[in-house]
Amino acid sequence: MITSYNPADPADLVVEVESPGAAGVTAAIEKARAAQAGWRALGAAGRSAALTRAAAAIEAHADELTELIVREVGKPVAEARGEVGRTVSIWRYYAQAPFAPSGEVHEPAAGEGLLLTRRRPYGVAGLVTPWNFPLAIPTWKAAPALAVGNAVVLKPAPEATACALRLAELADLPEGVLTIVPGGAEEGAALVAGADVISFTGSTGVGRAVVAAATGRGVPVQAEMGGLNAAIVLPDADIAQAAAHLAAAIAGYAGQKCTATSRVIAVGDAYEPLAAALAEALTAIAAPGPITEVCGPVINEPALERLTTAIDSAVGAGATALAGGHRIDRDGWFIEPTLLEQVPAEHPLRTEEFFGPVAVLLPAADLEEAIAVANDTAQSLSTSVHSRDLDTALAAADRLDAGMVRVNAPSSGVDFHLPFSGAKGAGYGAREQGQAVLDFFTAQRTVTLLPAGTAR
Ligand code: NAD
Repeated sequence: MITSYNPADPADLVVEVESPGAAGVTAAIEKARAAQAGWRALGAAGRSAALTRAAAAIEAHADELTELIVREVGKPVAEARGEVGRTVSIWRYYAQAPFAPSGEVHEPAAGEGLLLTRRRPYGVAGLVTPWNFPLAIPTWKAAPALAVGNAVVLKPAPEATACALRLAELADLPEGVLTIVPGGAEEGAALVAGADVISFTGSTGVGRAVVAAATGRGVPVQAEMGGLNAAIVLPDADIAQAAAHLAAAIAGYAGQKCTATSRVIAVGDAYEPLAAALAEALTAIAAPGPITEVCGPVINEPALERLTTAIDSAVGAGATALAGGHRIDRDGWFIEPTLLEQVPAEHPLRTEEFFGPVAVLLPAADLEEAIAVANDTAQSLSTSVHSRDLDTALAAADRLDAGMVRVNAPSSGVDFHLPFSGAKGAGYGAREQGQAVLDFFTAQRTVTLLPAGTAR
């Protein structure tokens, strides 16, 4: 059985469904493969119309979906509403993609004729998704895969099962074209073992196993994994604005975004004023209103325990909590937004993703050292830089190892019409989102057309 519970009220069972097992996943893939030819044959106009209808149905149920996101994964209501809006926009954006050119025409090297390239769908796209963006991530994978003519089998995280099932129900595509298989590792592995093209988002360990399994079969794979994201604050920054951005990036949705900030690097004289302003901003979020409106609970009890154990061990090893540091005494998996200083270099809070509203504050003598500290991780997804100086921003954009560099903006935040992925171990394979992902979900072939009777 697959179950998912409300993280703000753990007695509230959101959904309970039978797990299909590996055999059920294989059957879903076969059904999708049978449906794919008809889906592709609908043509650009037919697929575009279907994706446009899906957007409209989701938009018409925005309030219901917002409530479901809040209930199933504990997202604050404003962020949940924003996710539903973004989901609608992503369906609309990719509804235009079937009309985009699918290749190029070239001159033959000699004589008459045409050389052209053409992109064709692979067949069945196998999508494996996490729980933290329970509508947006399934959508930003499924909509482009469908737009270019693949059928989709999607395995959501167990914690987000109800959201995925409702999304597919509302999209209401032809039978077999978009199938949700609830489940956990067994079902995910079966999907990776059988689909024709694979897109994964989730933790680094699982992502690496998915990449190994897919490349072992010789099928295309992309994987978006965990981030250990840094923010660099220079002395010339607007410290009040930087503190507000960092508080949002650390504590917004309880830090459960792959782009959340977990390492704050304060350069030179920025340290003292930033420490004070950020501690104040994070402490304010721990109050009863903001903790639900801004932060929310972490996803489950093991996540909360991992966070409190790590904070306690850091404090035991000499760290000081400038803000927070404790579980909040109320129903649900709530923890205070936390800022720690003097965390020892080898402590896991400096080297691993914790996926909670916790950050470490680190000093750096100058920009050079700050960039070195920010780059000292294998999980470089998003780094923010806070400064009024253009040279600093340009140096950071050039020299930071990160999939996204964001100047005077929180590290969290993604634009769906631009390519998205991490650097180094945070991402594998082609970029997601934007137009880039349309190439990923199609194979390119080269076609030679010569007049009949041409001697060659
Ligand atoms: P997770 O790795 O535990 O699970 C992700 C998905 O993989 C789930 O659907 C899960 O059931 C499935 N899975 C588990 N074992 C599997 C296996 N052996 N084979 C195939 N599938 C398997 O991650 P999560 O807890 O759901 O999500 C949180 C993680 O996702 C964080 O690390 C976060 O940084 C990451 N994330 C990354 C991005 C990004 O774009 N880089 C975006 C959102 C979340």
